[in-house]
Amino acid sequence: MILDGKCPTGPIETAWDRHRFDIKLVNPANKRKHDVIVVGSGLAGASAAATMSQLGYNVRVYCYQDSTRRAHSIAAQGGINAAKNYQNDGDSVYRLFYDTVKGGDFRSRERNVYRLAQVSVNIIDQAVAQGVPFAREYGGYLTNRSFGGAQVSRTFYASGQTGQQLLLGAYQALAEQKGAGKVKIFARTEMLDLIVVNGRARGVVMRDLVTGRVYSDVADTVVLATGGYANVFYLSTNAMGCNVGATFKAYKRGAFFANPSYTQIHPTCIPVSGGFQSKLTLMSESLRNDGRVWVPKNKADVTKDPNAIPEQDRDYYLETRYPSFGNLVPRDVASRNAKLVCDEGRGVGHEVDGERRAVYLDFRDAIQRLGKDTITERYGNLFQMYQQITGEDPYLVPMRIYPASHYTMGGLWVDYNLMSNLPGLHVIGEANFSDHGANRLGASALMQGLADGYFVLPYTIGHYLASNKLERVTLDAPEVKAAEAAAKARIDKLLAVKGTKPVDYFHRKLGLLVWDKCGMARTEAGLKEALEIIPKIREEFWADCNVPGSANTVNQALERAGRVADFIDFAEVLVRDALERRESCGGHFREESQTPDNEALRDDENFTHVGAWEYKGDGQVPERHVEPLTFDYVHLTQRSYK
Ligand SMILES: Cc1cc2nc3c(=O)[nH]c(=O)nc-3n(C[C@H](O)[C@H](O)[C@H](O)COP(=O)(O)OP(=O)(O)OC[C@H]3O[C@@H](n4cnc5c(N)ncnc54)[C@H](O)[C@@H]3O)c2cc1C
Repeated sequence: MILDGKCPTGPIETAWDRHRFDIKLVNPANKRKHDVIVVGSGLAGASAAATMSQLGYNVRVYCYQDSTRRAHSIAAQGGINAAKNYQNDGDSVYRLFYDTVKGGDFRSRERNVYRLAQVSVNIIDQAVAQGVPFAREYGGYLTNRSFGGAQVSRTFYASGQTGQQLLLGAYQALAEQKGAGKVKIFARTEMLDLIVVNGRARGVVMRDLVTGRVYSDVADTVVLATGGYANVFYLSTNAMGCNVGATFKAYKRGAFFANPSYTQIHPTCIPVSGGFQSKLTLMSESLRNDGRVWVPKNKADVTKDPNAIPEQDRDYYLETRYPSFGNLVPRDVASRNAKLVCDEGRGVGHEVDGERRAVYLDFRDAIQRLGKDTITERYGNLFQMYQQITGEDPYLVPMRIYPASHYTMGGLWVDYNLMSNLPGLHVIGEANFSDHGANRLGASALMQGLADGYFVLPYTIGHYLASNKLERVTLDAPEVKAAEAAAKARIDKLLAVKGTKPVDYFHRKLGLLVWDKCGMARTEAGLKEALEIIPKIREEFWADCNVPGSANTVNQALERAGRVADFIDFAEVLVRDALERRESCGGHFREESQTPDNEALRDDENFTHVGAWEYKGDGQVPERHVEPLTFDYVHLTQRSYK
């Protein structure tokens, strides 16, 4: 099937305005008659729910944390992009659009990206009006810093806690609507299935994580804002609860999963320190504004005190290989280069499994130039976090960093209106595939989540509601009862295995495999091998996993078991997608497809498209559909940051 993103045609600069004029509106009195379910309360879900309820819809919000304001968006550190051009350094909507399309290695939809760049400016105004404490210049203007893949400074930030502050802003808006009785919030609930009636998404099956009760909720439309699936790699910078459950259930109910193999490996994370770890910690990309990345030139120096290695024996490899962008090359490029120098035996730090996998991120020169106080002002909380985790003082010795799984560009396929191919199912934030192509630029995830939630979905959802006559669905409808029964049966099945191995054993095993065969570098042979091994992990999981406790109480092992079972099934789709895309692009690096100097080599003739997978039943190979991508404004070229 050829998928159609249903983008407006005509000049790109006015496309969104014309589209908003052309789509149908729901009048204020009728909005009160529509129920909307939003699953997820991160920046995407909270902003969408608050805005839609302000518009007049009846909104119900679900999240698995104990409060909506603890969604994983709270972890975002470095900042949010917007084309305000406050630095007067030549930024514009067009430049942000261009950088994002190029940064994504020409695998995103031009019109979505242009709209994103356009509404980016509104997000900052909205957040400032809410009281978000963005960093300011002495004179009071909002200040900016730079992130990878851009030669201008367009990143707005609140110390190293930008996600937290933005989420508090969205949460306040949501709380205000809750107080007004327009939003109902259900924390500590987990979506177990999507309810589809007559080919439309009409509700969700939820589990109350405190009492264990499984129940359904129905509405006119469902919005998934459930975040990304980087935890498929087990070790990642994501919160431990991040999962693929909600989007994968929607996939199994007919929504297409687009580009699952587009995963982002972030170059600056605290390296793995041993086999006991269950979590990795990000060191924000903002640190690359002032930190310089290097390894020793000579292998013999890798165990030396870094401060004792003289300048001429240091290899500032990003500055040498990419003089135009230096340490601020995009994430995929920085990550691959860190891997290369470690593969050459020039990695630093202590050995884990016989290898040294770390490079230095050094602030010595910045501290000399700007003074320690300025560095503390910019990155104090990150330095503190680093010291607490590693026991080393980054003001005195360079940080050690290495790439880790961080973000997922793939997600459920959506059209320009952010609706999936399954009518009535809208998908926003990291859960959709929409704007970042094969590589997301730093500080663009917060921008996209809030663009979707504050400024896109609240308009486009009205078009769906106004264009379709939706019959009433009640909780005793057969589709509702069947989905609820299936969810309960799966819980019983998990509890009945009564095997010998804890759930994490399987998650770790899966994660290591996916990281090894489908992580920073991928080969046809490795991907085929992974496709052989994943079914064996699944078989072992269902024969030998141990889920203690019962279904009718708080049971985190049960929650994790359900999520890991989904990750195992989903990993097969991810690996299959990587195998099918026989080119390199952005974060998807097929070793067979690289330029002589090890850059990703695209195959535009055969792969200038989105690949979206349709579920065909358990044990069946899913079907791949494509959405062709056209580039009328940013012309396809070999990406260069030299
Ligand atoms: C450490 C870290 C730092 C980052 N820093 C930056 C940064 O500086 N700038 C930037 O642009 N991006 C950054 N990112 C990326 C960015 O934070 C995320 O992409 C973004 O916050 C995702 O927002 P979201 O609303 O889509 O999802 P999330 O914030 O992940 O929210 C998901 C929501 O869905 C709910 N949910 C999930 N599954 C279920 C389920 N099955 N049932 C019920 N509810 C469910 C959760 O409870 C939660 O409320 C960072 C990411 C990490 C990991």
